[in-house]
Amino acid sequence: MTAKSLITAAIALGATAAVTEPERAVSVTRASSQTVTAGAPEFFTGAVKVESRFQTPAPARTGGGLVSFEASARTAWHTHPLGQTLIVTAGEGLVQHWEGDVQEIGPGDVVWIPPGVKHWHGAKPNSGMSHFAVAEDLDGKTVDWLEHVSDAQYGQRSGAYNE
Ligand code: MN
Repeated sequence: MTAKSLITAAIALGATAAVTEPERAVSVTRASSQTVTAGAPEFFTGAVKVESRFQTPAPARTGGGLVSFEASARTAWHTHPLGQTLIVTAGEGLVQHWEGDVQEIGPGDVVWIPPGVKHWHGAKPNSGMSHFAVAEDLDGKTVDWLEHVSDAQYGQRSGAYNE
């Protein structure tokens, strides 16, 4: 099909030149254009990388990225104003809310962290873990960072914290 016949077909289907306007066009961000960034040490413990970041334009407000933790790496304690969804893509990891039991997570598991709940997520001591993290922003913010997860806290694999 030639370009001219494509345009003719598009017009016949009711599509107009509007499909070529940037805000109406489907956007593909190529992997090759993405940079892999390291998790900032003030927010993570251990080796963490973030890739495939995305942020939907207003009025949509969903953003996230693929986060990979090397063995024993984890986030600091934190909260999300509108909650967060984690979709585990590889490896074996852990997630825990404040004073809650540690839960094991693996590929295909989907985790929902409710708004305002203090928690951390990361890899198991002897396995890396990757998850896709998705959150909506509230007033431009998706996360409030708190203190690091100490080695003692990380090492405590079950039961409530007593601090
Ligand atoms: Mn989180």
